[in-house]
Amino acid sequence: MQNEVISFDYVLTAKSGQVIDASAKGRPLIFISGLGQIIPGLELILQQMQPSEKKTVTIAAKEAYGLRDESLVHKVDRSRLPNQEIKVGDMFEVGQGQDFTPVTITAINGDEITLDGNHPLAGEDLTFAVEVVSKRLATPEELAHGHVHGAGGCHH
Ligand code: ZN
Repeated sequence: MQNEVISFDYVLTAKSGQVIDASAKGRPLIFISGLGQIIPGLELILQQMQPSEKKTVTIAAKEAYGLRDESLVHKVDRSRLPNQEIKVGDMFEVGQGQDFTPVTITAINGDEITLDGNHPLAGEDLTFAVEVVSKRLATPEELAHGHVHGAGGCHH
């Protein structure tokens, strides 16, 4: 169902079994369904679950952070990067004006730096262990603002 405020606990693991991310204890993630606020594959499943229901699901890369796009991988000269210490795994934004893209340094070869504009989880099938904590209808005000108000949301 759309336009619901859904809060849920999750543990996200990669194919390797490594835990990538998890909601903090007692602080579930909260979102409004139908607005594309979380990855589409997971949103679809949470919409069909009931409060206190638990499920472990694997979301294919395409329905998570998308497939990898090798055209987003660029090699640049060290001199084009900010004059600070850099290491593999560093993320920063490149671009001009309004158009910024987050990139990750994936290799350093002397002065040749490889920048990857793919989301770090692009191309990864992701496994989520989720538990729906609560569901309620979003208020007209929340829908107008596009975010949740009150507990776990915006206070203003
Ligand atoms: Zn608001």
